[in-house]
Amino acid sequence: MADLAIGQTAANASAEARRRVALRPLLALKPYLARYPVMVLSTIVALTLAAMATLVLPLGVRRMIDLGFAGGNDAFVDRYFAVMVAIGLVLALASAARFYTVSWLGERVVADLARDVFRSLTAQSPGFFESEHSGEVMSRLTADTTQIKSAIGTAFSQTLRNLVLLIGALIMMFVTSAKLSVLVLGLIPLVVIPLVVYGRAVKRLSRTAQDSLASASAYAAENLAAVRTMQAAGAEPEVTGRFARALELAFAAAGARMRARAGLTAVALFLVFTGIVGILWLGAGDVLAGRMTGGTLGQFVLYAVFAAGALGGLSEVWGEAAQAAGAAERLGELLVRTPDIRSPDNPKPFPHHAKGEITFDGVTFRYPSRPETAAIEGLSFRIAPGETVAIVGPSGAGKSTIFNLVNRFYDPAKGTVRVDGVDVREADLGALRARAALVPQEVALFADTIAENIRYGAAEAGRADIEQAARTAEAMEFIQRLPNGFDTKVGERGVTLSGGQRQRIAIARAVLRNAPILLLDEATSALDAESEAKVQAALERLMGSRTTLVIAHRLATVQKADRILVLDQGRLVEEGKHPELIARGGLYSRLAGLQFAA
Ligand code: ATP
Repeated sequence: MADLAIGQTAANASAEARRRVALRPLLALKPYLARYPVMVLSTIVALTLAAMATLVLPLGVRRMIDLGFAGGNDAFVDRYFAVMVAIGLVLALASAARFYTVSWLGERVVADLARDVFRSLTAQSPGFFESEHSGEVMSRLTADTTQIKSAIGTAFSQTLRNLVLLIGALIMMFVTSAKLSVLVLGLIPLVVIPLVVYGRAVKRLSRTAQDSLASASAYAAENLAAVRTMQAAGAEPEVTGRFARALELAFAAAGARMRARAGLTAVALFLVFTGIVGILWLGAGDVLAGRMTGGTLGQFVLYAVFAAGALGGLSEVWGEAAQAAGAAERLGELLVRTPDIRSPDNPKPFPHHAKGEITFDGVTFRYPSRPETAAIEGLSFRIAPGETVAIVGPSGAGKSTIFNLVNRFYDPAKGTVRVDGVDVREADLGALRARAALVPQEVALFADTIAENIRYGAAEAGRADIEQAARTAEAMEFIQRLPNGFDTKVGERGVTLSGGQRQRIAIARAVLRNAPILLLDEATSALDAESEAKVQAALERLMGSRTTLVIAHRLATVQKADRILVLDQGRLVEEGKHPELIARGGLYSRLAGLQFAA
């Protein structure tokens, strides 16, 4: 282990300057450690004690060889062994304490960090998740925190221990024999320089291997997340083949790295071994010539072994520390990232009495990931409190984009979106979103109970509220038929509920939210007649006197709407009631024939 490690020392020493910069992100962890001063202090005490107990051993060895063995002094030898057992006990206890406190700190810091990073992630705008690879964001949260945990729990602990030992052992080497110490130090460049050259190559190779493995994992995760799409397309063999090829590439890269590393080990071992033999040979000459006692040589050799071991240990963990620094850097970025959509410092209050009015005034908007086309262009309309307005248009016309802008998931490039007379950019985000309830087409359910799924976002809702909401949403009947009623767990992504049932859960959520504005994205997929009737009934009850903006896919909906907005390529092309628009014979009348199921 130490031999490999020495190779690494060299590799890392080569990048001394770069490493110093690279380790800097670890400083971001300082405030997290500073919260636990008692544990940090205990760690330092345990470390010092353990190092002292280790460093005292060679002294005992020398005295024993010189005074005990050489002098044939039985009682002396006995006493020394007893003292050594006591020292061993101190070493054992101090090491155990160090292990405990450092691991504790690792776990604690990582838990705090993961919580803060996740909080920051939840505040980011949807645009952020579109530009970032969402899989990568998840891996930052899990892989990077794990890396930091292991870095603090082992690397940090080892680094401190080895640093203290190395310094102590070096001092003791000089105290024992300055001449031999100078020789040892003189040897170091001879060993290190060839290793530095070799080490660089190893480092480059290991980066290639890591990169190819990361892309293979991302590809695999994406496909498993879309398992239905994959299987329905019969893409399993293709996907497996691609994953396997990516793995082979990673393996090949790893192979090159391993060969380089093996070579490095051989070189390092030989150089180090030869060096040690040479020093011993000189030392033995001194003992034979009477310039040094056997015990002193033994003591020197032990200190040298400690120093080398500590150096090896250090180099080993430097690599890990550098990785952890990378992890800390990535997490640090997330931690301090200011969301591009956030509440202004002095938000404008909404009128106390919520009206539920929506105004778009010359709004033009492009998605950050598609800046070349406007999803919405020069769009103006006003939706009066209590009005039910249907939005109709071909696919990609910008219907869902309107919802995104009302919720301020994005900011328009031009124009203003107002809710209850307040520009959404000037309002508090929480307050704005509390004014609208969204019933999406694809209902996201979480792997939790039905009750918790309904409560989602309304933490203060009690059981009675949840049941009432379910009743309003026509969901009571099917929920009661589930094995554990409201306490039934919904499978991952809600696969155990039908489309109509999922929608009713979403409606129940919206009921609990009790917002003045309802944003409703009607399901395009046909439900069975009974389910359909229930969903409709539930929706009508929910709409009540609320302002409702509905992306309409049903004839019944457009017929009942107070007004219909017809969108095409982000522009408002027609506006009116169903019969008027049909009579006009424009885009709407064409769409109506094609789009609306009865
Ligand atoms: P559909 O009925 O198919 O859902 P829609 O009328 O709701 O369509 P929008 O989803 O508002 O249309 O999309 C308007 C335009 O913006 C489309 O051209 C679409 O491809 C694009 N678009 C939508 N969402 C994004 C996004 N997150 N990033 C980039 N472009 C997007």
